[in-house]
Amino acid sequence: MDQAPLIDTFGRIHDNLRISVTDRCNIRCFYCMPEEGIQFQPRAEILSFEEIARFARVAASLGVTKLRITGGEPLVRKNLPHLVELLADIPGIRDIALTTNGVLLKELARPLRDAGLGRVNVHLDTLDRERFLQITRRDDLGRVLEGIDAALALGIPMKLNAVAVKGLVEEDLAPLAEFGRERGIEVRYIEFMPLDARGIWDRSGVLTADEILAILGEKIGPLDEIPERDLRAPATEYAFRDGIGRVGFIASISKPFCGNCNRIRLTADGHLRYCLFAIDETDVKSLLRGDAPDSEIADTIRRTVMAKWAGHSINSSQFVAPPRPMYAIGG
Ligand code: SAM
Ligand code: SF4
Repeated sequence: MDQAPLIDTFGRIHDNLRISVTDRCNIRCFYCMPEEGIQFQPRAEILSFEEIARFARVAASLGVTKLRITGGEPLVRKNLPHLVELLADIPGIRDIALTTNGVLLKELARPLRDAGLGRVNVHLDTLDRERFLQITRRDDLGRVLEGIDAALALGIPMKLNAVAVKGLVEEDLAPLAEFGRERGIEVRYIEFMPLDARGIWDRSGVLTADEILAILGEKIGPLDEIPERDLRAPATEYAFRDGIGRVGFIASISKPFCGNCNRIRLTADGHLRYCLFAIDETDVKSLLRGDAPDSEIADTIRRTVMAKWAGHSINSSQFVAPPRPMYAIGG
């Protein structure tokens, strides 16, 4: 690191950058994307791999050590392993992870691993083909499972991300945890957040971490919170008392973890966000495309981090949902 760390007005040090590489996706999870009529960004507005890598290099000079590639669906971006190669070359970057729906993972797991990808989170809400179709409006469960197998066979460390919507996935919670237990994969249940495109979110649709924990406890067996977890990680983790496997909870609604936040986000069209739920964002594409020196990009990153608020206010009556849906931010 060349300079002082990226610290905000609440003393939180930022070392984690999420990079969205596209707003497009090959499936249509109802809580993220509408089925039709989506206005995707024109290709010319999307950052090139070189532009992304330059931004990441400047961020690394300010103390960013961890990168996560996301989207939209990152694997639909052509030649993604080349971006991973560019990122892996950046001094100071110690961890490159990917969040994917897994549909194209079977083909891409090896080239991504060879390029330097360290970890993958595969999004999978259900092992039931009908419910997968209902949630994603695509019949691709088989391909996701093949993708998971391919990545595991290569030894890529993996977690599963399962979005928990009340009244829909209760039957899926325990089979997913069992699937993870059999394969040594942690399943992370994510509370349904107000980030869908059509404003369908409602508090009554949130299946909370405590409710999920109760269902898993009843159907599989008791769980114990893992005490020495990394306080800056978003998930609270629990181990099954029988010693087989663990699960995690991203309890953004019932137990917000903003006090530990260490993340900033670069959207596919080159805007920097200090929070998933931020209303404001900073245009860095115009700097990347307009001859700005690295020092100006670094100053802009610092200013954006300094503007960061204490936390989202989903649980207050003042809450305003962000103007962009999840797929356009980069989850
Ligand atoms: N397409 C990839 C995927 O699905 O993993 C990466 C991008 S996606 C926007 C990132 C994550 O956001 C997904 O893993 C999914 O779990 C989560 N997600 C999307 N919409 C959500 C919502 N409304 N509430 C909670 N999590 C959501
Ligand atoms: Fe696509 Fe991921 Fe959004 Fe599902 S959550 S529609 S896979 S971007």
